[in-house]
Amino acid sequence: MKRYLILIVLILSTIFYLVNNKEKIKIDFQEKVKEPNVKFGFDLDSFSIKKGTIKEGQVLGEILYLHHVDHNQINRIVKKSKDIFDFRRAVPGKKYTVLCSKDTNETAQVFIYEKSLAEYVVFDIRNDIKVYIGEKPIEIKNRLSSGIIESSLWNALVYNNLSPALVVELEAIYAWTLDFFKIQKGDYFTVLFEEKYVEGEFIGIGEVKASSFTHSGKNFYAFYFEENELYGDFFDHEGNNLRKTFLRAPIKYSRISSRFSKKRKHPVTGQWKGHFGTDYAAPAGTPIMATANGTISKASYSRNNGNYVKIKHNTKYSTQYLHMSKIASGIKKGKFVKQGDIIGYVGSTGLATGPHVCYRFWKNGRQVDPYKEKLPAGEPIKKENKDNYMLLKDSLLQLLQLETLYDL
Ligand SMILES: [Zn+2]
Repeated sequence: MKRYLILIVLILSTIFYLVNNKEKIKIDFQEKVKEPNVKFGFDLDSFSIKKGTIKEGQVLGEILYLHHVDHNQINRIVKKSKDIFDFRRAVPGKKYTVLCSKDTNETAQVFIYEKSLAEYVVFDIRNDIKVYIGEKPIEIKNRLSSGIIESSLWNALVYNNLSPALVVELEAIYAWTLDFFKIQKGDYFTVLFEEKYVEGEFIGIGEVKASSFTHSGKNFYAFYFEENELYGDFFDHEGNNLRKTFLRAPIKYSRISSRFSKKRKHPVTGQWKGHFGTDYAAPAGTPIMATANGTISKASYSRNNGNYVKIKHNTKYSTQYLHMSKIASGIKKGKFVKQGDIIGYVGSTGLATGPHVCYRFWKNGRQVDPYKEKLPAGEPIKKENKDNYMLLKDSLLQLLQLETLYDL
């Protein structure tokens, strides 16, 4: 309970802050954090600092040699660091910093290679050689943004200077609520989410906390709530789960290449026949997930299906996944799998023109189009959490509405 109260106070103060500092916030995002004297865990003032960028074909040993480290010592460093970082392999364009002694020799004492924006490798070569990976602190900022759809969600995000990674998040959140193929000009959204920064530089988005999507004049809300320590779900304004008992698709980041239809011309045989599945095109080797909990009823090969897996979810529903390049190890008849478990990999075995997974959805022994089915919803908010959820939701809702008011 205390947790939620703190969260609500936080949100309310954010609202207050946003009201008063709306323009200022936008500027703050672009400001860089001033470089402190302590960096990578060292007091930079006590060294002579040399900075550089790895050049094409340059090895780290060469840089140390330029800073008066002899070949024997370099060999020792290569040996000592091999389990943590291959000293001989550096990526051109990456930054490095050499902390040298402040005397006239300016000998390298510590060498720091910046692996990524957040991660660096320290080669401390004073006395004993110490090699370790360091991480810069990640700063998380909440961002509230909104946009109007002109042509697509993607364009709306780019136009509003938002990460396109949010498309994937929003599509996943609303997978069963909204058909993103059907969003239209004039639809709009507001989203509260986290942005991750390292030294003032944006490195990616974090969790989405709340969003409102208005489609054809109707609001679709999603609020993130953790019912236990392990995971959270998105719920609507009444506390209904936005997730269904089935995932929308058996693979992430896919595109539908052929929908379920009662009549279509087969791309290989040329015959007119129903297509009783949904095809998702994806690169060969893409993991295929079980769309719901269930027991494997088939994991085998047939001439048409290629390598395929069928899962029985309950007495009513089964799902089937065709044309796999490989069935995942351990997946065999009788095994219980959970939603999201990897059961195989995309391929083009059997009657298939290119790599894709044909996803078939069985209801009472007949194949149906899952996207036209009214499927059972995931669990709603538990009774004991309902009050906390409603409090949280109300404050998040205020925040979303405030942003919408400002921007539209
Ligand atoms: Zn198919």
